[in-house]
Formats: sequence, C-alpha cells, structure tokens
Amino acid sequence: MAHIITRPCCNDASCVAVCPVNCIHPTPDEPEFLTAEMLYIDPETCIDCGACIDECPVDAIVPDDQLEEFDEPYLQINADYYKDHDVDGGLVKHPKAPKLPDDEELDVAIVGAGPAAFYAAEELVKKRQVKVHMFDRLPTPYGLVRAGVAPDHAKTKGVESTFAAVEKKANFTYHLNVEVGVHITVDELRERFGAVLYAGGAAHDRRLGIDGEDLPGSIAATDFVAWYNGHPDHADRTFDLSSERVVIIGNGNVALDVARILVTDPDVLARTDIADHALDALRQSAVREVVVMARRGIEHGAFTNSEFLSLTELDGVDVVMPDELVLSAEAAAAEADDSIDSVMGTKIRLAREFADKPVGDAERRIVFEFLTSPTAIVGDNDGVAKIQYVRNRYVDGSSIEPTDETGELDAGAVVRSVGYRGQAVDGLPFDDQRAVVPSDDARVLDRPDGERIPGLFVAGWIRRGPTGGIGRNRYCGEEAAKAVLADFANRELPSPTVSADSLEELLASRGANRVDRAGWKAIDAVEKAAGKAVGRRRIKLVSLAELERAAGEGA
Ligand code: NAP
Repeated sequence: MAHIITRPCCNDASCVAVCPVNCIHPTPDEPEFLTAEMLYIDPETCIDCGACIDECPVDAIVPDDQLEEFDEPYLQINADYYKDHDVDGGLVKHPKAPKLPDDEELDVAIVGAGPAAFYAAEELVKKRQVKVHMFDRLPTPYGLVRAGVAPDHAKTKGVESTFAAVEKKANFTYHLNVEVGVHITVDELRERFGAVLYAGGAAHDRRLGIDGEDLPGSIAATDFVAWYNGHPDHADRTFDLSSERVVIIGNGNVALDVARILVTDPDVLARTDIADHALDALRQSAVREVVVMARRGIEHGAFTNSEFLSLTELDGVDVVMPDELVLSAEAAAAEADDSIDSVMGTKIRLAREFADKPVGDAERRIVFEFLTSPTAIVGDNDGVAKIQYVRNRYVDGSSIEPTDETGELDAGAVVRSVGYRGQAVDGLPFDDQRAVVPSDDARVLDRPDGERIPGLFVAGWIRRGPTGGIGRNRYCGEEAAKAVLADFANRELPSPTVSADSLEELLASRGANRVDRAGWKAIDAVEKAAGKAVGRRRIKLVSLAELERAAGEGA
C-alpha cells in the first residue's frame, strides 16, 4: 500500500517535513518545487506511516486503498512523476536555526494578512524574543484564501486552521482595517519596527492590449473572482450574465475556477461560502456555454492537471475537447519526445480522455479552445457582442506565431483571465518590468540588482510574481522569516527611532477604525452562525459597514 496526494494539494510541503523516508517530491530544496503543480508521493518508497496525512492542512493525502473513484487517476499521476524525476529516498535534513540575541526583543511589522504573511508569521512567533504585528487594509484576514480560492474548493480553505493557530499566539497582534499608505506609511512603520516584511500580494489584473478590452462586459477575472468571493471592494458590482455564451481568455487555474463557477448548478454553490449577491446573480444567469480560449497547445495549458481533472466531477456539465486539437498535441508530443515531461504528458492524456467521452446533452458545457489568440473584443456601450481571434501554430516547442486563419465568436461577456499583476507601493522600490518589489533572499533592494535596504523584507506574489497556489507561499514566507531572524541574530537590523507605543494614537489620528483579533473573531462568529443556520460553511459579510459593525460588537 502507498499514500497518494490528490487534488486539494496546496504545495505547502508540510508533509515533506514529516516524511521519514523522503518520498514526497519535489521538496522545497529541489528546483522543480518552484514550478510544480502539486507534490507527489513515490509509491515505491512510501512506507505507509501516515505522518503526512496528519500534517496535511487540506486533507489531500489518502491511502491508496481508500481513494474515492474520482481520485483514482491520482494513482497514476503520483507514480508518473517518478518516471522522469530521479529522487533518492532518505532522511530529510533540517538546517540549524541561527542563535538569536537573548538580551533583545524584535518587533516585526508584517503588511498583508494572506498566506505568505501568515507562513512568515508562523515561523516568527515561534521565537519568544519576537513580536509580530500584522496589518491588513480589510477587517478580515487570510487574503486570497478568503477572496481568491473558489468557494467550491472548501478543502483548500483548510489552511485557515494553520493561520488561526498563529493568530492565537500571545506574541501576535492584528491591526486589521488599517491601510498602509493611507493610515500609516512604510517609513512610519520602519521608524517603529525593527523589521518590516511586506507581503501585500499582487491583486491587479494584467492587460491584454487589444481593442474592446474596456467595453462593458469585458471583465477582469481578478474582479469577477473577488466579486463572487465577497471582497468588499467588489460587492456592489454587477455582471451581465444574460447571454448564452461567455468566453474566457487564458487557461490558468483562475480561468478554470471562473468557468466552473459559471456552469455549476447554483443549488450546489448554495452549500458553499460564495457571496450571496453572486449566488443570486448566478441563479438568474442565462450562461449555458463557457469557452476557455488559450493561445498555446494542450501540453502548455496553464491549468494544473488536478484542476483539469476536477472538471469531470461537475454534474450536469459537458466538457467539450475538440478531437483535432488532441490529435495535433499527441502528434507534436510524439515528435518532441524530450521536451514533453510527465506533467505535460498527463495534460495530453487527460485531454484525450475528455475528447473520447461522447458529448452528452447536459444543460451547460465548457468548451476548450487551444492555439487561439483574441485579436479584438467587439461591442458597444451596451456591452460585448463577440470576440475576434486568430489561430496560432508552433514555431518551436513552445513559442507560437499567428496563422492566416481568423474567426469570430458571439459572446455576451469576455472574462480576461491572463494573470495577476503587482502594483508599486509608496515607500518601496518597484521593478516595473517584473511588477515585483526587487529583492535578494527576501531582503528588499533599492533597485533591481541594487543594494539591500536594512530591515525591509518582502514575501509572496509581490516578491516572486503571481504564480503558485496558496501553499507555495509557505516556502516563500518561511524564507522571508528566516532572513529576518538571521539579520536579527547578526545584529544587522536598524533600531527603531520611535516607540511602537505611539502606533495606536497615530492610527486613530488618521481615522483608522482598527480591528483586532477580538473584532475578527466576532466577524468570524457572525458569519459562521449565519452559515450554520442554513447548512453552509459561512455566509460572508461583504460590506465594510457590516464588517465593522460585527467587529465592533466583539470589541
Ligand atoms: P496563470 O496560471 O499565469 O495563467 C495565465 C493564462 O493567461 C495562461 O493561459 C496564459 O497563456 C494566458 N495569457 C497571458 N497573456 C496572454 C495574452 N496576451 N493572450 C492570451 N493569453 C494570455 O494565471 P492565473 O490563472 O491567474 O493563476 C495565477 C496563479 O494562481 C497560478 O500559479 C495558478 O496556478 C494559481 N492558482 C491556483 C489555484 C489552485 O490551485 N486551484 C486556483 C487559482 C489560482 P500562456 O501560458 O500562453 O502564457
């Protein structure tokens, strides 16, 4: 028997650390870790001890004899990884932590309350000399776990329990509903804290640069996701879902999230923590077909195989995979054997399974298009009417060029799901080309390839760019925490020049209505109680006024 990792895998690698035989890969020390879709257990090496199951925050690991039928493909997906990755079993070695000064304390400000921020905090609060102060502009913590993870992915939200354990620590303080840049500047934080760790994320959408991108009905996926997840900035938005077809540009996991939410039976979504305004709109939706349009081929799909596979679990939805596209991917793979690794091979194999399945007469469908680039979104002030496109072909293994073949497709809405982008932050250097805060080993540099700014650190998407799911941030956050602790151990952090006690007065003078842990727990209790009454995980409060009111009741 062996253990198998399945779809909810969040890549946080907590399982790697407890595996006594090093059979889970890639590990954070291996280069593939930074790009891996998920982690895989080597069935040949696994000794079935179950330590990983206990440690996994999202219940992704299952003994192979207890796999549900829909998870059975993961037997092969786990084993396939070891066909072209040569890894030795053996004991995991943990580097020794640096010795911290006994005679000093360190106050660390962490900006952002998302996964990278929390994984860094988790490391820092283990040290009794360190106090963590976490700032977020929203009254609720957890960043993309709350506002990004799709509502039908409840298991992924299991990482919240890791974060909740951190926020309980005596050396942890929340300053929620406090906006850095409005209520306090980065420089004012640096005056008061020995280290400032910026983990504010990359919440903006990337642009396509084609005509019609700003028409009503041309929707940034970042906005749509925030809307259905009840982010207060987007709660008042409305999206026109009155037409039969929506086209999604891009085929990353966000594109698949949006596609799923658009075609899933609203009665199923009603059991999740989707925002009520989104549920109401989806109940009225006329959308029957969602086209997922990608510029490259199947093997380069930006979706992860686990998300691709999970489309088979959608009741009442046909997945349409044009046979000719799969044939061309299979032919290309046969020719370019070396450049197709096991993960790309699995994408083609899964696409073949979709293509071979007869298309039924389900009420809704997801249609995949590959090797197709949008050239214009066409419509008027009333909204989008169609999308124009050009077909592409490969010039080498992965780059594409347009062919002469063009076409257009009627669509009442176009969702642009071409990735997130970081934005410059007042008081921090910014690398405009990569849209990240320049850094070396999580230490902020005054410019790309420039000098370190002592006491200033960065983690998460704003450090490394917007790739990787929730758990990928564990490694990134831990690395940033280790940099803070190493600089503290080496006495390389600047001493604060202003007492941290002045913080409350400063925030009050700038009009901040600070929410602390008690306030957040009060919001949490209100949302959970409302959800429990109707059999849902929680019902989110979505306006700032409601959130502040609930927080106030807990104060
Ligand atoms: P992504 O994975 O980077 O995908 C972006 C997509 O946009 C790709 O298909 C890309 O195509 C396409 N694209 C970019 N520029 C384009 C252009 N000019 N024209 C046409 N297509 C264009 O981004 P994402 O979906 O926003 O996801 C961000 C990260 O969050 C990813 O790492 C993702 O895995 C993660 N995430 C994970 C989960 C999960 O684990 N369930 C859920 C949501 C998000 P090319 O590949 O050809 O560049």
